[in-house]
Amino acid sequence: MKNQLPTKRETILTGDRATGPLHLGHYVGSLKQRVSLQDKHDQTILVADMQGLTDNANNPSKVSSNILNVVADYLAVGIDPTKTTICLQSQLPALAELTMYYSNLVTIARLERNPTVKSEIKSKGFERSVPAGFLTYPISQAADITAFNATLIPVGDDQLPMLEQTNEIVRKVNSLAGKPVLNECRPLLSQTSRLPSTDGKNKMSKTMDNAINLGACEKELRAAVRSMYTDQNHLRVEDPGQVEGNIVFTYLDTFHPDTEYVSQLKEHYQRGGLGDGVTKKILEECLQELLKPIRERREQYLNDKSQLIDILRTGSEISRHKTNITLHSVKDIFGLNPF
Ligand code: ATP
Ligand code: MG
Repeated sequence: MKNQLPTKRETILTGDRATGPLHLGHYVGSLKQRVSLQDKHDQTILVADMQGLTDNANNPSKVSSNILNVVADYLAVGIDPTKTTICLQSQLPALAELTMYYSNLVTIARLERNPTVKSEIKSKGFERSVPAGFLTYPISQAADITAFNATLIPVGDDQLPMLEQTNEIVRKVNSLAGKPVLNECRPLLSQTSRLPSTDGKNKMSKTMDNAINLGACEKELRAAVRSMYTDQNHLRVEDPGQVEGNIVFTYLDTFHPDTEYVSQLKEHYQRGGLGDGVTKKILEECLQELLKPIRERREQYLNDKSQLIDILRTGSEISRHKTNITLHSVKDIFGLNPF
């Protein structure tokens, strides 16, 4: 799948599971892009609470308690509800209905082959006890994307297999219809489509409890940067160090605005004479500067929950209308609109 920048007005759908507050991975992986896309495109953001339940049904409050946190994160980074529609997945019944119809077009074998689902089933230790809703979440993502007839999806690279599966469903539906009813979509990857966690072992993720949240306080941010993996062979300051795989440099590359300065730091580190304490201090300052205004705005929004609820309610009403139209067209294909 190609990563082409949009040249015309596109319909964009993105979303996040309401499984925790958003983190720096979301910021560089998709939030920043969404802020710049909202001026020129028709953008909807879905707070995926139903999808959050697929691996949290035993602890539903983990999802319900994070819905407004996620909305506050959106507003805090600059998503503007007058330009972007923000809606709540569980309030759009057409999505669940479409999921049901599409389920008949996808085999269990195909779902089990989806590389992201496969690795998530493994890392969560589900084996055969995987909830049916979790195994089939690519179908529900296809329902989300097609319900809005979205053409462009800004995502992290873990989501690429979902878009491939979505397009397979689109082609099946269109071939049943004998004409193009649904649009195929394409991904828009950011420069950092997979920010690693501070230990460098996995991608930063809400569920793996390895995230630096956008609302992290100064102290938490300091502790997270201090715990970062560097070069384990860089024992003394004067030793030459390695920048590849050194998470502090991965983050400096991602977040520091002055790329020339970062390359000088890298050369110095590789030569020897630059300590990890210093590189971490530079990174911490840069991240503190980035997160301070986001944290402050986030707190303000969370102090007025009724405003957040209003934004979600309005966005969900608009989206209910749009998604019902697609549902009607898909039901037509199956001959299920008798009245
Ligand atoms: P969970 O662990 O509950 O799955 P998550 O941290 O993976 O949460 P999602 O809500 O699944 O977050 O992802 C929302 C979007 O953010 C997706 O497009 C995903 O690719 C992107 N994203 C998530 N984590 C990262 C990351 N570390 N780097 C870049 N993009 C990311
Ligand atoms: Mg995820």
